[in-house]
Amino acid sequence: MKKIIYLPGVVLLLSMAAAKANEKMMVVTLQTDTLKKDATDPVCKMKVKAGHTRTAIYQKTVYGFCSEGCKNKFVAEPKKYIGK
Ligand SMILES: [Zn+2]
Repeated sequence: MKKIIYLPGVVLLLSMAAAKANEKMMVVTLQTDTLKKDATDPVCKMKVKAGHTRTAIYQKTVYGFCSEGCKNKFVAEPKKYIGK
């Protein structure tokens, strides 16, 4: 005879963890946009030209990056690079 054990508490905890993760994702969206004007890579301070699409949106500002490496660093710790 099989017993099906249903643990609503565990399911609730898991969905809460998922919601927390989503909250974190909202800080820096991985969504990209096209850079509207020339900007500076906040990580390495290189110039990034308008029209660039390697970007990340943080607090409604579009930041452009010279490389995936810089973008990944920024996405991990945006505050470190914009000093706010
Ligand atoms: Zn860079």
